[in-house]
Amino acid sequence: MNILLLGSGGREHAFAWKIVQSTGCTQLYVAPGNAGTEDIAINVKLSITDFDAIRDFIVSKNIGLVVVGPEEPLVKGIVDYLQNQPETATTPVVGPSQLGATLEGSKDFSKRFMQRNNVPTAAYETFTAAQLDAGLAYLEKQNLPIVLKADGLAAGKGVLICSTLEDAKASLKEMLLDKKFGEASAKVVIEEFLTGIELSVFVATDGKNYKILPEAKDYKRIGEGDTGLNTGGMGAVSPVIFADEAFMTKVEELVVKPTVEGLAKENIPYKGFLFIGLMNNNGEPHVIEYNVRMGDPETEAVLPRIESDFLALLHGIGTGTLDSYELKISSDYAATVVMVSGGYPGSYEKGKIISLPDTIIGTEIFHAGTAKNEHGELVNQGGRVLAVTGRGENLQEALSNAFTTVKEINWDQAYYRKDIGMDILNLM
Ligand code: ATP
Repeated sequence: MNILLLGSGGREHAFAWKIVQSTGCTQLYVAPGNAGTEDIAINVKLSITDFDAIRDFIVSKNIGLVVVGPEEPLVKGIVDYLQNQPETATTPVVGPSQLGATLEGSKDFSKRFMQRNNVPTAAYETFTAAQLDAGLAYLEKQNLPIVLKADGLAAGKGVLICSTLEDAKASLKEMLLDKKFGEASAKVVIEEFLTGIELSVFVATDGKNYKILPEAKDYKRIGEGDTGLNTGGMGAVSPVIFADEAFMTKVEELVVKPTVEGLAKENIPYKGFLFIGLMNNNGEPHVIEYNVRMGDPETEAVLPRIESDFLALLHGIGTGTLDSYELKISSDYAATVVMVSGGYPGSYEKGKIISLPDTIIGTEIFHAGTAKNEHGELVNQGGRVLAVTGRGENLQEALSNAFTTVKEINWDQAYYRKDIGMDILNLM
């Protein structure tokens, strides 16, 4: 089968790495891909939001499965578009419908969905600019800290945690009246602050059946000890020690089942991945957010632990036959350390030559923001450059393998966090 994978990050390199290991893969195309996917697949210069061009490519290359990595084309409705085109109407696609993608595209929509389906989540109310006074009055009655969220996509920056009433009121006004996050903050969700430990649970679903993939914990901040600015993600580990069997059973019964059943009941077509951001509060799961795709860098820690055929899993999702898929997960640990360009998440210099080690042990190097220069040399092209995943029988070994390889990778001004996984090691 020929497969088209959309995206260009570390997540997509990990997807590509898994897909080409499957005997069912004839040719994998990645659009637009990166220097890592170029080594194992054919990179295609297609914009992931140019749906007409994607349709034409599917036809011309006889693509049997389309896999959508990032949220942007999903929220823009790529799945509905392809289904409504006569040439691609029957091509299986891994990714939810535009309505399904609204679970990520609108926090108000996702909170209402959770409420209707009895999925445990923080108490909340949503306000528009016309309801500012009601919003300010609502804030007066809440405990502190309080969480303010722009309703729409804001590149991970639209969430403010306010520790004083003054700050909360001023922030609400800025979001609603001054459009601090543009149209994304035309509506604001005001939400109770949850305490506990955060983790991410990943679900593959065809809209009826589901498989729970390995869980992961990510590290969002640029600085060690979780300090400094938010990033796309600086590392991840899987499994997560505090997600024990009792907790994961609760996650399945209280969160995953009602979510998948809710999608079916509400006629929301959903064939794709669901990434559930959770707070573990004394063993009780509360949903912080839904994302409608796999996480990055969590994917780079989760996929190496999947032992069963990954392409068959994707095919099961896209064709609605996930019930017959047997998911096998390794008991090994995986730890991913993300190497970034110095200066990220602010401005940084591109085009620095990257040197990779000749041999690596117990590690995979996934490319994210990489490219080849005019001399064919590997260079940094984005903020997050490489995701290095170490494997091991325990977390210590996985981290040690990852950091050994990271230390052998060099480019001018490369940066990484040296404390990935340390908080979990300290819990053990
Ligand atoms: P991202 O793109 O990084 O996933 P996002 O913009 O979609 O973020 P959320 O995931 O909803 O927004 O929130 C971002 C972060 O803010 C969460 O990972 C969590 O650490 C914190 N957060 C969000 N909601 C709450 C809450 N109710 N209580 C405590 N912390 C919260």
